[in-house]
Amino acid sequence: MTLIAHLENISHGVGLDYFGVANLARAIGFIRQQGGDLPASFPRAVSVGVAVPYGLTAPLLANDNDNSALMNYDWYVYKVCNPMLDQSTLRLSREIENAGYRAMPVATSLAIQDKHLAGVFSHKLAAHLAGLGWIGKNCLLINPEDGPRVRWGTVLTDAPLETGNLLERNCGKCTECAKACPSGAIHGTAFDPAEPRVKRLDVDKCNEYRNSLQSSIGAPTCGKCLAACPFGRIK
Ligand code: SF4
Ligand code: SF4
Repeated sequence: MTLIAHLENISHGVGLDYFGVANLARAIGFIRQQGGDLPASFPRAVSVGVAVPYGLTAPLLANDNDNSALMNYDWYVYKVCNPMLDQSTLRLSREIENAGYRAMPVATSLAIQDKHLAGVFSHKLAAHLAGLGWIGKNCLLINPEDGPRVRWGTVLTDAPLETGNLLERNCGKCTECAKACPSGAIHGTAFDPAEPRVKRLDVDKCNEYRNSLQSSIGAPTCGKCLAACPFGRIK
């Protein structure tokens, strides 16, 4: 069995829904700028994802911010999906090293520029370059089957794995996420890799709104922009 087939088998065996390999050369300048020379020293990334059931996100669209729905969503995303991804990328890294290559798993929620919610490496970028989706107007990775309701994890590697092709799709004329955003943080502008994120999303407005929920309901969770996306949404 090839290494890539072995890794994909492991991923599905531990319950992950998505697997792909990204060619990082296409975005090496951005990767170095965000995380420095270490992440930029890897030519490829294994991207894996676990889909979040629509039933967890649908209640987030309610105007009254139901406390139990938000806490339930928060629990499954941060306490269940993220550890599942971290354990999986740890295992995949060991398998890649056992095959004789470099591998570095990237933690799911490690922010180094906390104010801007940026980590050492963008999981969305890896998933996008692996052909698993496109960057939406809400700045999330939009997968054709599950929309933005997928949590992503990454293993950086130099293993010579076959890489995926970019998906030739985009949001089109849709602006559902911008309409659903209670803070006005989403401008409804299509992703353009040449433009800074601020053109599409006001992170400060999003943070202020989510922080207000922390004091009122006990969790800085909103998620209306991912619940509203029509891709993968169950009516
Ligand atoms: S999490 Fe909420 S406030 Fe932030 S961008 Fe999405 S919808 Fe807007
Ligand atoms: S809601 Fe519409 S505009 Fe927003 S990310 Fe989804 S497809 Fe794109």
